[in-house]
Amino acid sequence: MLLLALVFLILALFLFWQSSRQRRAAGLPSGRIVYTDTRAWGKVEKPLYDPDLRLTGKPDYLVERNGHIIPVEVKSGRAPRAPYDSHILQLAAYCYLAEKTFGKRPPYGILHYANRDFAVDYTPALRAALLDVIAEMRRDEHRTNVDRSHEDARRCLGCGFRHHCDQAI
Ligand code: SF4
Repeated sequence: MLLLALVFLILALFLFWQSSRQRRAAGLPSGRIVYTDTRAWGKVEKPLYDPDLRLTGKPDYLVERNGHIIPVEVKSGRAPRAPYDSHILQLAAYCYLAEKTFGKRPPYGILHYANRDFAVDYTPALRAALLDVIAEMRRDEHRTNVDRSHEDARRCLGCGFRHHCDQAI
């Protein structure tokens, strides 16, 4: 029993190490747990927009802290051990839009889960990763046939395009 527990522990540590390594390779920061006071959060009324990238988005909140405008994205579920890449990229997009709108780069954004908050640094590497993803999306925009980008059957099950899609799992 002890041996089995040890094997699982080693496996868990290996998976954690591997995911951190992949994350570092992709230039995405992992986020750090922070305490935030939700009373100071200001609701965002209008979406932010950047005409250069044709990018628009509405963070749930914008918080002013030490002269910076910090975007906050609220997720209704419980926090994963580390924020998902998709959540990090969404927050990065809000950081980018805040930078363009207010003329000042936010040093980080906040992911607010039901039980925990993460601060995700808006690093030059994260900004570059975001711009790469947007460029890739723009390239795909004009293609008539784009391959599925995931192996997640549950995602296909809940997808509104499922009945028209020839790549549904
Ligand atoms: S059904 Fe098609 S469009 Fe929808 S998630 Fe699956 S692969 Fe993507």
